[in-house]
Amino acid sequence: MIKDFNRDIAKSLDRKDSLSNYRDLFFFPKYKGKKCLYFCGNSLGLQLKKTERYIKQELNDWAKYGVDGHFRAKNPWFDYHKILTSKTARLVGAKDDEVVVMNGLTTNIHLLLMSFYQPKKNRYKILCESNAFPSDLYVLQSQVELHGYKFEDAVVQIPSDDNGVVDEKELLKLINEIGNELALVFIGGVNYYSGQVFNISKITEASHKVGALAGFDLAHAAGNIKLNLHKWNVDFAAWCSYKYLNSGPGNVSGVFIHRDQSKKNPFRLKGWWGHSEKDRFSYNKLRKFVPMNGAEGWQLSNAPVLGMAVHKASLDIFAEVGMSNLVSKSKKLVSALERVLNNFNQQSNNIKFKIITPKKRGCQLSVLVNKSGKNVYKILNKNGVVVDWREPNVIRFAPVPLYNSFDDIFNFSQVLKKCL
Ligand SMILES: *Cc1c(COP(=O)(O)O)cnc(C)c1O
Repeated sequence: MIKDFNRDIAKSLDRKDSLSNYRDLFFFPKYKGKKCLYFCGNSLGLQLKKTERYIKQELNDWAKYGVDGHFRAKNPWFDYHKILTSKTARLVGAKDDEVVVMNGLTTNIHLLLMSFYQPKKNRYKILCESNAFPSDLYVLQSQVELHGYKFEDAVVQIPSDDNGVVDEKELLKLINEIGNELALVFIGGVNYYSGQVFNISKITEASHKVGALAGFDLAHAAGNIKLNLHKWNVDFAAWCSYKYLNSGPGNVSGVFIHRDQSKKNPFRLKGWWGHSEKDRFSYNKLRKFVPMNGAEGWQLSNAPVLGMAVHKASLDIFAEVGMSNLVSKSKKLVSALERVLNNFNQQSNNIKFKIITPKKRGCQLSVLVNKSGKNVYKILNKNGVVVDWREPNVIRFAPVPLYNSFDDIFNFSQVLKKCL
């Protein structure tokens, strides 16, 4: 908890910060010739300067070898997804055979629900957040419709307060109440709007107790909070790579499927890249699908190598730094930002910021502005502060430990002072 915050304290925190050099590895958008105050890593992470080199490697091998690059490239494309496996597993606390990188996030959630939402008789309900990310709700809607249910009946939304914050005790109670009608709990590990971090382990345990599965959308959790998906017995999860994982707009998504689940060989949508690689190229016989072991067996297509190369550049950094170091800096950065917002409230008679993110949080603070929030957002933007805006009146700030500094937070306090 940071009690006081000023220029000297910011400078001293930056000096002591073992991650302070990583900032220079990134391109920052510019404002008046200087780096922006970029607090939008929850939406789109910044580009690593070395990204171009990683893409060029593949472009060069493509130019040099053509189709033979599948086996002769420095990173053979035939196996490209495997290069990402162990670093991905470490990032989310999984075994190597439990993760794979493929497709986009929404596509992957669909693929996972095709396997892990298998309603039977009375057990057909899905529990999700009332303010789930829109795409996730559309997925749930189409999946329950696919099985002949109505959204209003099959999808139960968890009540929340006016700010979208869920009382976790109520959530656990609700799981018990729905009990043997519950097929699946599917929620965001970190809610995209409120920034609330859920107790993934407890929710999973409670779901299993009533005979339901537990799956998580980790779009706002991967690269933000410490995850231990295997140990927590999470059944499945997926996340995107372009938010905290800095892998570029719309890029590939990661998937986790617990060993215990993949071993049961559930129904899945099948594609050639999920088929055993020994005879992937045999076309002639009418053949039976033999899945690869573990999460790899859910792949459909051969890997989009250019996007994967960008993701590799980022995963290399995360493997080097480790989530523990990131989380410990993240706590201090967010605490400093909280201090700055509270100090501002004390001095301002007019505009007030109310942090709606509960104490269980990652590096995002969602802040309700008492009036003309949109104006405040626009003024910040015009003064080199990159944040994002969510209706009705919320500004989301995400100081990211990999590339934000305490000096950024101090400079932000100066912008507040000057402009508001
Ligand atoms: C960002 C985000 C998505 C985006 O899905 P795409 O398929 O990558 O466009 C989905 N769900 C959540 C919770 C998100 O935060």
